[in-house]
Amino acid sequence: SETAVADAGVIGLAVMGQNLALNLASHGFAVSVYNRTYARTEETVERALRELGPGPGPGPEPGPEPGPSLGDGRAADPPVQGFADLKSFARSLKRPRKVFLLVKAGDAVDATVEALAEVLEAGDIIVDGGNEWYENTERRAKSVSAHGLLYVGMGVSGGEDGARHGPSLMPGGSREAYAQLEPLLVRIAAQVPGSGPCVTYVGPGGSGNYVKMVHNGIEYGDMQLIGEAYDLLRGVGGLSASSAADVFATWNAGDLQSFLVEITARILRVCDDVAGAGTSSSSGADGSGTAAGCVDALVDRILDRSGSKGTGMWTVAEALRRGVAVPTIAAALDGRYLSAMKGERERASRVLCGPERPVAAPSLSLSADLGVAGSDTATTRPQRGAATMPDMNAGRADLAAPSVPTHTLVAAVGDALFCSKLCSYAQGLSLLQTASSEQGWSLKLSELARIWKGGCIIRAQLLERIEAAFRREPGLPNLLLDEMLAADIARRQDGWRRCVALAAAHGVPAPALTASLSYYDTYRQGVLRSSQLVQAQRDCFGSHTYERLDRPGRVWHTRWTGDG
Ligand code: NAP
Repeated sequence: SETAVADAGVIGLAVMGQNLALNLASHGFAVSVYNRTYARTEETVERALRELGPGPGPGPEPGPEPGPSLGDGRAADPPVQGFADLKSFARSLKRPRKVFLLVKAGDAVDATVEALAEVLEAGDIIVDGGNEWYENTERRAKSVSAHGLLYVGMGVSGGEDGARHGPSLMPGGSREAYAQLEPLLVRIAAQVPGSGPCVTYVGPGGSGNYVKMVHNGIEYGDMQLIGEAYDLLRGVGGLSASSAADVFATWNAGDLQSFLVEITARILRVCDDVAGAGTSSSSGADGSGTAAGCVDALVDRILDRSGSKGTGMWTVAEALRRGVAVPTIAAALDGRYLSAMKGERERASRVLCGPERPVAAPSLSLSADLGVAGSDTATTRPQRGAATMPDMNAGRADLAAPSVPTHTLVAAVGDALFCSKLCSYAQGLSLLQTASSEQGWSLKLSELARIWKGGCIIRAQLLERIEAAFRREPGLPNLLLDEMLAADIARRQDGWRRCVALAAAHGVPAPALTASLSYYDTYRQGVLRSSQLVQAQRDCFGSHTYERLDRPGRVWHTRWTGDG
């Protein structure tokens, strides 16, 4: 009695799959679901009934495309139908079948694709929505094409909330399959007013996964930069967590507006209600305790060890392999690795010292009033004690006395964050340009910037300018070459330099801000003196030869050290 009624199927019902299934159903698509462990299938069906009620969702919402045809006589069907075996799951899907996989990347996807290939038919479509290594997608696409199946590797960004209410989608692979999927994808993706749904056909092969990987690399950079900005506000400026929250909230109302800056302001206001017993103003149902009344901010109690799942490492490894410099992203990855060495760092904190007092930096006249965002809300008095773990900042305690007016510091840090963030994007996008031409993907970077403007973790106002830059010049090899963005940096570079100098002077670690500035300063040199010397050294010890600036077209070798 089974008939093919479902518009799409979802396999893998952990965080992402479950939410994507509900997203599809809430847009009026009939969805079939399957999971290796059946309990999750039941849980998903029950959740869909609870959240969406019976019937195939509330029906198509107004959107850019006409809604799906829902057939007839299905009013009483649950919005999401669960299946215990793959065969009946496949039978429930309308052809060409569209199956979204959200299972653990790697072997689990191989196992699932293999099993699926047995129950699907020529013309059916498999979409892997996981964070998969792009070459795995290319290998699988080839292998299932023997069965006539079409394959798409689709980056999905936005976490749990994005998957449920509108992610940024980065599908790559079979264009024919994309045409079939498009009516669904444009409806479940995040919508940005005036800019359309956050989905586009990325390109052939594994380009969808690749673009998602680099998106995550940029995300690593962004998060680390925000972390360093926060550390500077507290470590140099002596701001409390709640004052830092005010600064981030102010930034979020300007050029730095972004999802990550926004959640940072919210995070910094959450009070600890575990250690600081009696803090009555701790987090309520919405998790928004008011930090003004905090004894301790929750962030100060968090173990300072960050994990990673691989996409940041892949981005840096890919950049190394293709000879593209991504120092901001690499610094972010190193930051996570160093953070993980908690025991060693604790030992080092007893062995290694920082500056006794901030190193004077005479070239940095800090008196300039820059008309600072956030100066009205930030405290000008150092706040110590309550929020500081006792042995955490040995060697930095004396730095709590700011030698810089708070508003100057806040402005400088804001400038540094803006410019460095631009470098993080520039590096990621330049890796994408390189990979695109090496792989023959023809990536359209303005479109990638457009689909990152909503739904995903790196969504930011800045992407509007980035999109415009690649519209002006689609083949732009590096974002920093865009004249409008170069002018944005020119306006802010004094603050950026001041910020990095302050970090160094105070011994506050700012590896990604510093790496970004060095990247900028290296990139803008027409002649790199350090490389002239490196070439001479290479020729000196290894006869690697060199070329001359004034006599191009031939190589030279010099006996640099007499008999040596
Ligand atoms: P996950 O923890 O990566 O994977 C769990 C899912 O994979 C479960 O459904 C599990 O089934 C299934 N699975 C694991 N091994 C399997 C095997 N050998 N055979 C069949 N199924 C297997 O889930 P997730 O966090 O929802 O992520 C799904 C994908 O999206 C991943 O590639 C992830 O990297 C990517 N992603 C995640 C996020 C996020 O915020 N979590 C954001 C973007 C992208 P059982 O229930 O039977 O164990």
